[in-house]
Amino acid sequence: MTADNLPIDIYFRPRNYTWDEMCDLPGANKDCMIDWDYEVRTIVEGRFRDACRNLWPLIEGLNFRSITIVLDLIGMEHGDIGYYPYDSSEEKGSYVFYASYDFLEAYLRSHFEESYELRYIWEHELIHLCDHRNITEFKYYNLSTDVREFLIHYLLSFRNEGLADLYFTMLGHNDIMGSETARQKFLAGIRKFEAVRWEDETIIKQKEYEFMSENGFYDLGPWMVLHVLSCPGYKGYTSQAASVAEHKLIELCKGKLQYDGVIRKDNILVYS
Ligand SMILES: [Zn+2]
Repeated sequence: MTADNLPIDIYFRPRNYTWDEMCDLPGANKDCMIDWDYEVRTIVEGRFRDACRNLWPLIEGLNFRSITIVLDLIGMEHGDIGYYPYDSSEEKGSYVFYASYDFLEAYLRSHFEESYELRYIWEHELIHLCDHRNITEFKYYNLSTDVREFLIHYLLSFRNEGLADLYFTMLGHNDIMGSETARQKFLAGIRKFEAVRWEDETIIKQKEYEFMSENGFYDLGPWMVLHVLSCPGYKGYTSQAASVAEHKLIELCKGKLQYDGVIRKDNILVYS
């Protein structure tokens, strides 16, 4: 199997959408809805396959029997795009992703305006897919109202999003340009966490929401992953990670280490 023949099925939610539900999206045309439908699914599929090609050595060993991408026209999903761990099954080889209405709008705009701003975004979700077993485990804690469970959820989110966004950081896309800045910002977040009166049960849910929405998971997380990978003695130590962690990202961008977006076999670490 290659990225070109992965079994990908893309459909809109609802399947029988009306003109009113899609009329504001770029390129929509009441007289050519079937063509538009086909074009949108082709665009999304093309971008998704590009991401699969970029990460192919990472994912080629996985069991792929079906990949479904739901294009959400009715606002059930917030944010941009995502991976549904609960609807996916490693054993069955079936994996499900979604794109929100807002994302679809931005995606189509970027397509029609030929901007590549959103080019790498599916890679993030594919790395969540590779991390499937761990994210389903951590999601369990989401349901608890115990603040200790929330702390685990909060800390593991740096790991989960840090792994998924490490790819973008290695390409030079991260607002934080060095590990020391990341460390200080993380510690400031922890001090804020400690200052909350968690014993007051009436504020827990609101505070959880605030912490999860003002998080630094995507920019701090990759630096934390790099830090772990660059600790001498750690079984996954790599001199490449140590080199990036040591040098500021700005130097990485200047060309000390250059990546073109395609993951190669010899760049991959294998963990036991
Ligand atoms: Zn994510």
